[in-house]
Amino acid sequence: MKKVDIVVPCYNEQEVLQAFYNETARVLLTLPDYSFRFLFVDDGSRDNTIVIMKQLAKEHDNVKYLSFSRNFGKEAAMYAGLTYSDGDYVILMDADLQHPPAMIPDMLAGIEEGYDCCAARRVSREGESKIRSWFSQLFYRLSNRMTDVKMPQNAVDYRVMTRAMVDSILSLAEVERFSKGIFAWVGFETKWLPYENVERTMGTTKWNFWKLVKYALSGITSFSITPLRMVSGMGFLIFVFACLYILVTLIQTFLFGIDVPGYVTTLCAVLFLGGIIELSVGILGEYVAHIYMEAKGRPIFILRQTNLEIKKEKSNGNASDSVC
Ligand code: UDP
Ligand code: MG
Repeated sequence: MKKVDIVVPCYNEQEVLQAFYNETARVLLTLPDYSFRFLFVDDGSRDNTIVIMKQLAKEHDNVKYLSFSRNFGKEAAMYAGLTYSDGDYVILMDADLQHPPAMIPDMLAGIEEGYDCCAARRVSREGESKIRSWFSQLFYRLSNRMTDVKMPQNAVDYRVMTRAMVDSILSLAEVERFSKGIFAWVGFETKWLPYENVERTMGTTKWNFWKLVKYALSGITSFSITPLRMVSGMGFLIFVFACLYILVTLIQTFLFGIDVPGYVTTLCAVLFLGGIIELSVGILGEYVAHIYMEAKGRPIFILRQTNLEIKKEKSNGNASDSVC
């Protein structure tokens, strides 16, 4: 019998967790050929999420939980879940029922067809604000143009993966993780299943506009050096233009003498170059920040408590030292 781990990152999901379990468990009953295990990851929730997880674990042997010492973000929660998974297949899904559990049988069927991964892709973004959809489209267009990894638009973090793919994902040890890019980067054959967007009915989204912008920027700079090349290209163009302009000015000066008024030209040049320099330093800064964060090599998450038996070598950095 194939073992399947269901990794569920949860942050302040007390309203929905029980409903998520009930709904998912109901679907799993239709799949007797697999042995399922839930791996709930409590990402430092400030509500009663961990209490509900413990209750579920008490009631059902196949419920495991990992709880962080603070909120480390969804990326860290997914990474922790994958790190402690040991099933033949791993399902990654949100706790808020926006990833319909009813798709699990079709997803597993995709894996049995021979795919390494079967992932969900939204065909509509109904219920989502227009501005968020527009920015999301812009992000995919930009990142697909700038990076070698092609991220399919509207792909969500709802997927089933084989052990081989999960191990490859874990072998990318970067601290600042951008899973959408990592999933695409490791390759493997992915089958895409379309689904209609489901609105969140319980609890609230944990993302706001600026968090999403930061995430998108970090995504592009994690996977592409095109912005750096653009800075070099821009510098080169400005250099060529400046040389030509100097030449023209010198010739003019020799032929006609010094023309004193030049206020507008000087001001435009100073402001334009100042702007370009600031922009370039900003872009460089994004990359330096990545290097800084990676160089520190801090653990991606720190566990506070779990009902899993943890082998020390599996932990990330000092993670398991903090398990109580
Ligand atoms: N999540 C998390 N840590 C965070 C933010 C979110 O583990 O810091 C989880 C959250 O509990 C949910 C999933 O990530 O299971 C997706 O979050 P959310 O529904 O807020 O995102 P959205 O669906 O609005 O993109
Ligand atoms: Mg959601």
